Amino acid sequence: MQTAEDLFYFFPYKYIDRRRLDSIRGLAPGQRTVVGQVVTSGLVFFRNRRRLFEVILSDGTGAVSLKWFHFYPQMQSRFKKGTTLMVSGPVTHYRHEPQFVHPEVQILNSDLMEEVSAPGIIPVYSEIPGLGQRRFRKIIENSFSRFVIEEVLPSEIIARYQFPEKKEALFQLHFPPPSADVDEWNRAISPAHRREIFEEFFLMELALALKRRGNKQDLGIVFRWTVEAVKESLQKLPFPLTRAQRRVLHEILQDMAQPMPMNRLVQGDVGSGKTVVALLSALVAIQNGYQVALMVPTEILAEQHFRTASELLSCFKIIPALLTGSLTQSEKTKIRSRIRRGLHPLIIGTHAVISEGVEFQNLGLVIIDEQHRFGVLQRQALRAKGKPDVLVMTATPIPRTLAMTVYGDLDVSIIDEMPPGRQPIRTDIVESRERGRLYQLIAQALDRGEQGYIVYPLVEESEKLVLKDADRMYQELKKIFPDRTLALLHGRVKGEEKEKVFRDFKAGRVGLLVCTTVIEVGVDVPNATLMVIEHADRFGLSQLHQLRGRVGRGEKRSTCILVSDYQKTETAYKRLRVMCETQDGFRIAEEDLKIRGPGDFLGTRQAGLPEFRMANILRDQKILIEARKEAFQLIEQDPDLRHVPQLKEGLMIRWKERLALAEVG
Ligand code: ADP
Ligand code: MG
Repeated sequence: MQTAEDLFYFFPYKYIDRRRLDSIRGLAPGQRTVVGQVVTSGLVFFRNRRRLFEVILSDGTGAVSLKWFHFYPQMQSRFKKGTTLMVSGPVTHYRHEPQFVHPEVQILNSDLMEEVSAPGIIPVYSEIPGLGQRRFRKIIENSFSRFVIEEVLPSEIIARYQFPEKKEALFQLHFPPPSADVDEWNRAISPAHRREIFEEFFLMELALALKRRGNKQDLGIVFRWTVEAVKESLQKLPFPLTRAQRRVLHEILQDMAQPMPMNRLVQGDVGSGKTVVALLSALVAIQNGYQVALMVPTEILAEQHFRTASELLSCFKIIPALLTGSLTQSEKTKIRSRIRRGLHPLIIGTHAVISEGVEFQNLGLVIIDEQHRFGVLQRQALRAKGKPDVLVMTATPIPRTLAMTVYGDLDVSIIDEMPPGRQPIRTDIVESRERGRLYQLIAQALDRGEQGYIVYPLVEESEKLVLKDADRMYQELKKIFPDRTLALLHGRVKGEEKEKVFRDFKAGRVGLLVCTTVIEVGVDVPNATLMVIEHADRFGLSQLHQLRGRVGRGEKRSTCILVSDYQKTETAYKRLRVMCETQDGFRIAEEDLKIRGPGDFLGTRQAGLPEFRMANILRDQKILIEARKEAFQLIEQDPDLRHVPQLKEGLMIRWKERLALAEVG
């Protein structure tokens, strides 16, 4: 903690309600909370070889037993004699004695014990070495009279939502008023909490609103198109677009026709057909005489998009260029020079390759596929290359609220419909010792003339190990299926060889592809109907969903097998079950988010996801939506924040750097 602000924002993580503390004497069944000291603790053995860990706790009025049927060695030292505990949980009676089984326990500092014996509501802070709870509370209390805390929220909003003033709210967060409902404080839903959460969201959304407005004030390119011409293009496609695809294409083309640069995110579950929508948008830009860059996260994907684009756009006489890291230096130089001279209308490549020193003659549209690999900053860098329209495509079905915080400055279109004829993918969990069953399933798929993937997770720190795993499996499968064609593909397989493996797989010359997650995103081989994922428990659900999305792309029935090779814990198993139950990417993402939390879900830093002091995008979704509405309205009415100078200042302090905001007004 360096500033008084840090101090004020160091909130208690819990409040003890002395008014609701029960005494151990006469403890009745039901939800109870007691505070006491450990009298004895240790293992208790039964004749039937069962054991339990027991703590006897006394508060001077009586004693109660705490019991754990699973335990770990450290418990003995954790619950030393004399330790002060606060214990909550349901009380039951066993042989007429009260007991807590697997209660929630908190170890209290002994100085807190004195506090607890005093009436009132006691804030509990995370421990600060060398500083007792009581002293710390005193410091905070004094600071409230020594420092001025200025209001940031507009008074109109405070009045409308009946929020406490900022100073009052902060004070209440440390010292709830005597009449407070402590439960509200502990669940972070008190008026003071709601106000602080609202403020955090509001400032962030304000920053996003400003940024978006700034983007829109830039002058970009006005692309011209007619409904007839677009219809004509659609006629040339091998399939009619789904309604959702048409709607999203329309939204994109509307944006492109506006003078301000487009910043649009297209969300669509795996297989919903984002590529064709992107290519149709590219077509319009190209027909307007501009260049288009299509950037993807992996080379394989770049190559695939290159093939798709070449096929799809050949009837429009558009020949795309592929720019990847595996080209030789002289090839790269040649293509770059052609790009600079405007000879390539559509350039497809990995993000790194395109952003690294490529000059365009007249870049009009940038399409970024699979955005979750990039992040906010790269988009910024791109804008420096003139003012092209930007279209971001993501297959990560980001829950709405998260999308608002990560991509809050983008307009969002959703392709929420699958192309017709898709079969649901059957998903099963197989234990790795059931290899036989697995091989049978593989054989069956191959017998039907279909293809399959076997995927190994690539965890960075053990890349070698995984490669060994994949390689061993590859050798083993070759023995088991001697008359089939198998191939091995991983990150170390480079350039031409990789390209060849991939071509062979796509053409059906390879039946079974053993690979690492290089295939995770976007790969499209409709005849592949079997997806086996080894060590499935090591993947996030959304990643499993992406992988699974590699099959079920044609009209044949597809299967996904999740191989899990350890004694499954309850949660791991539950997690994998979600995959068997649903194919709805949004639901899967929500579940993933619940289990892993937003930071993990996207990789906080990578996604540019802000960290909040109190707000929680999952728990506080409702407040986020309100705050967003208010923030965008305010910017509409008062774009320079002229009438709310204190807000402007607060905003700059908190968000200027994070969002590369321009100085307001
Ligand atoms: P994603 O959204 O995951 O990137 P793709 O763009 O790769 O999906 O499309 C998945 C598959 O669906 C491709 O084989 C594509 O040709 C096909 N497809 C896309 N749109 C349609 C459609 N409207 N009707 C039939 N097939 C389609
Ligand atoms: Mg795709």
